[in-house]
Amino acid sequence: MRVAIAGAGAAGLTAAWWAARQGAEVELLESQKQPGRKILISGGGRCNVLPSELSEADFFTSGSRHVLRRLLRTWPLEEVRRWFEEELGIPLVLEEETGKLFPAAQRARPVRDRLAEAVREQGARLHTGFRLERVERREEGFRLAAADGRRLEAGRLILATGGCSVPSTGSDGHGYTLAASLGHRLLPRYPALVPLTTKDAELRALAGISVPVRWRALRDGRPVDAGEGPLLFTHRGFSGPAVLDASHHVVRNGAVLEVSWGAGDAAEWTGWLRGRARRAVERAVGDLLPRRLAALLVRRAGLRGAERCGNLDRGRLDRLLGVLTAFPLPVSGHEGYRTAEVTGGGIPLDEVRPSTLESRLCPGLFLCGEILDLIGRIGGYNFHLAWITGRLAGEAAARP
Ligand SMILES: Cc1cc2nc3c(=O)[nH]c(=O)nc-3n(C[C@H](O)[C@H](O)[C@H](O)COP(=O)(O)OP(=O)(O)OC[C@H]3O[C@@H](n4cnc5c(N)ncnc54)[C@H](O)[C@@H]3O)c2cc1C
Repeated sequence: MRVAIAGAGAAGLTAAWWAARQGAEVELLESQKQPGRKILISGGGRCNVLPSELSEADFFTSGSRHVLRRLLRTWPLEEVRRWFEEELGIPLVLEEETGKLFPAAQRARPVRDRLAEAVREQGARLHTGFRLERVERREEGFRLAAADGRRLEAGRLILATGGCSVPSTGSDGHGYTLAASLGHRLLPRYPALVPLTTKDAELRALAGISVPVRWRALRDGRPVDAGEGPLLFTHRGFSGPAVLDASHHVVRNGAVLEVSWGAGDAAEWTGWLRGRARRAVERAVGDLLPRRLAALLVRRAGLRGAERCGNLDRGRLDRLLGVLTAFPLPVSGHEGYRTAEVTGGGIPLDEVRPSTLESRLCPGLFLCGEILDLIGRIGGYNFHLAWITGRLAGEAAARP
């Protein structure tokens, strides 16, 4: 069986390994001069290969949660880790504070290099500079045409062309057009895990400050999701794991993000401020939050920073607690695909068979990785999706 795989990113490389391992003749087609360019820039150049724990709640799709659950069960996390460590020889280490798994080398390049080498060792052929431009479904399989005129035929085709995020790595969204040309619907796509922007100059002036927050995404005043983690102020607005995780609700649905600064809730803040009756309110808040942020929040509550905590009447205390624990982030937009870590939306999950990832509309076509309407949160969850869907599609496409 000849299997062509378009895209040699995380999902395509994994699909190639498993398809070749099953004995298929594998042609791995990559538009760039080298495979896995996005792996190289992942995790700040360290590549957060996997999370150390996961649950269904770490993933988001507008499709069926049942299909998501079935996909996650196809390759348990411990087995994916064993594949990396024992089959590929890439030892992983846990970063305790974040629960993320990184390569012991703490560099992304050896991960990419070893994956590409392992794929070749299994016998797959890598064609770089091969941008799949057009696909024709024939009775006996697929006829593929590259942008530079090269031609190829294959009995099965796996589309592992990624999304639209950071297009300079090669994922320019053409894969969606190819899938649509073979009959698939495209759900609206949007940048996800993306920094948000603000017009609030005072908040932008806090650029560089990172602070732990609890966040809630609200639609029509009702919470739709919540989480916690660090928020980073940037020159354009807000980033950091908390904001990236929450961003898809804002970009996709126009949700409002409300944050609670620091680790405390209203009762804890009240206790903290009451216990510091003689301390200036700005100082008391600044003991738990970065000083410049504390000063700004106290101002936003309409209080004088020098005012003593003990002098706050109920009304002013409530105003301060509101700003500290239910602060609506004034979001004006997002940074777009240039910096988004993943693309939401894409091929609906109900158009693939969850046990094989074969298209329900075009037999012989398989889809894996970010092209599917499925994303994970920050922490190795998106690579996890790439590895498990790549394996599923690769193994299934190789079956006679
Ligand atoms: C800056 C950044 C950091 C990240 N860090 C992490 C992290 O640490 N941990 C984590 O879990 N996730 C991380 N992610 C997300 C993760 O990189 C993606 O979820 C993952 O790479 C998706 O894999 P994929 O194979 O589906 O797509 P991609 O990795 O995008 O691969 C798609 C491949 O297809 C090729 N291609 C596209 N169109 C064609 C065509 N027509 N013909 C031939 N080839 C084509 C592209 O050149 C590309 O090589 C990060 C993303 C970014 C942008």
